[in-house]
Amino acid sequence: MKDEQSWFQALLSFAARCKGKMILSVLCSIISVFGGFVPFFGVYQILKLFIEQNAEWSQILFWCGICIAGYAVKLLFFAISTILSHVGAYTILETIRMQIADKLMKAPLGDVMNKTIGQIKSVIVDRVEAIEPPLAHFIPEATGNIVIPIAIFIFLIVFDWRMALASIATIPLAAIPMMLMMRGYSERYDTYMKSSSHVNSVIVEYVEGIEVVKAFNQATSSYEKFDKAVSSFKDYILDWYQSTWKMMYLAFAILPTTLLITLPVGLLLFSSGALTPVELCMCLILSLSIIAPLMRLEVFVNEIKIMEYGIRETMAYINMPELPNADKPVTLLHTDIELDHVSFSYTGKENEMVLQDVNLKMPQGSFTALVGPSGGGKSTVARLIARFWDVSEGSIKIGGVNIKDIPLKQLSDTVSFVTQDNFLFNCSLKENIRLGDPSATDEQVFAAAKAACCDEFIGKLEKGYDTPAGDAGKRLSGGEKQRIAIARAILKKAPIVILDEATAFTDPENEDKIQQSIMALTKGKTLLVIAHRLSTIQNADQIVLLKQGHIEAVGKQGELLKSSPLYADMWKAHIGAKAWAVSDESEVALHV
Ligand code: ADP
Repeated sequence: MKDEQSWFQALLSFAARCKGKMILSVLCSIISVFGGFVPFFGVYQILKLFIEQNAEWSQILFWCGICIAGYAVKLLFFAISTILSHVGAYTILETIRMQIADKLMKAPLGDVMNKTIGQIKSVIVDRVEAIEPPLAHFIPEATGNIVIPIAIFIFLIVFDWRMALASIATIPLAAIPMMLMMRGYSERYDTYMKSSSHVNSVIVEYVEGIEVVKAFNQATSSYEKFDKAVSSFKDYILDWYQSTWKMMYLAFAILPTTLLITLPVGLLLFSSGALTPVELCMCLILSLSIIAPLMRLEVFVNEIKIMEYGIRETMAYINMPELPNADKPVTLLHTDIELDHVSFSYTGKENEMVLQDVNLKMPQGSFTALVGPSGGGKSTVARLIARFWDVSEGSIKIGGVNIKDIPLKQLSDTVSFVTQDNFLFNCSLKENIRLGDPSATDEQVFAAAKAACCDEFIGKLEKGYDTPAGDAGKRLSGGEKQRIAIARAILKKAPIVILDEATAFTDPENEDKIQQSIMALTKGKTLLVIAHRLSTIQNADQIVLLKQGHIEAVGKQGELLKSSPLYADMWKAHIGAKAWAVSDESEVALHV
């Protein structure tokens, strides 16, 4: 979106699906405007009959009928135009929302996750919705407000060109304060939109974080941030309003004073014999109808800006780069994973690589653990294997095939990524588990839930497996939600499992059940675990120590304890911590 034209072109492209309806809406609006002129013409004829003193009832009734018919045409076609423009506007809204949703599926998952829920919601719901009123009303109303003054002006020229000019004489006079008012409008509107977005995000943050705010007794300081954002927004708007209202009222005061000019000019023309009394009356009535529609157009200046911003923001999503997707499924002979000279930067900048030249092999059926200091790149390696982003340099292969050449659907069927962030959809627990394999029977779902140690706590719920996740979500512990996510992954039966080991929910009972469910999930699979507690990965086939984006050491537990001082220190720290733990009896090492 570089220039003014491009947002408009984008709008036209969204409107392509309903082009016919939009054009018809404009046509109906024009017919409606001309229908609105008929009563004027009828009144002119009736006046003429009276002044020429040959008014007869039949003729008066005839012209009255014409006036009513004209008015009916105006109302009917305006209604049709408005209906069509609303259908068009909602079709455009639908197209934009579908395109954004489609892009969120095709863009690198990481890029999508980098955006806050508040940002995405604000665009898909609020900004897109804001496009509707201007779009739906702009066509019928603005068409009329533009066509009416032009048509009246032409009509007046037919009577007398001097009266036509007199009727628009206030426009250039009002244009001066109007232009002063509009100085810097675009920049100010820019700032207005930025402040509005800021207020939005502060409100979302305040509401989303209310639990933390209360827990840490930060209500006052957080409220201050919220209060400051809302107040400065109000101050900005008032300041803008105060700087423009004088000019705005001056312009609006000058514009409708048409009669001050048309009346003397009209009387002069009448006294010189250039206008008949009927023509003078008509010219005065018509000239009064030129300005009101023009004044109503002013509203659309703002509306067009709202539309422009809405479309610009949605285009930022629609133009998000897509992850290239291979279209032909490939045959994977095995599920070895291989990272070959992988480097990666989240920002795309050379000097901000978070992984550098990582080489790693994970044979089929093996158990690999990623350990290391926080920020070392463990999660990044896992996300790259699941192709949340593409590597910056090097390649990742599964079964000897570069993952870029595996269609995303096939890759997703091959890799299960169980994170700590366990999202439950707003459907029953049974359906939430079935997401792992939509074709699974109820029995298969129950078996997976049992293997993931879910059936016990689900059994305690009043509606059991049919409990809506929304109701259950509030009652389920973090560990229970994670077990549902594991049941989902068990059902999926992907041959590769990536697991972000839970750091939370480590109460002994939950821990034991989670470890059991993980064992059920990972049996016979190629397993990669992002490990936070070293005792759970003692039996790993290989432990990979990542530090600052480099592989510091690789080996089994015994080897690393001898060869890597960093690992030995981490182990000592872990054992030390365990000695302090109230209960570590139940901690079960991961076995594959
Ligand atoms: P670990 O899992 O070992 O704690 P991560 O892979 O999460 O480490 O992070 C490695 C580095 O990448 C860190 O410096 C972190 O700040 C950065 N990072 C992680 N996620 C993102 C992201 N979505 N955008 C930008 N930088 C990120």
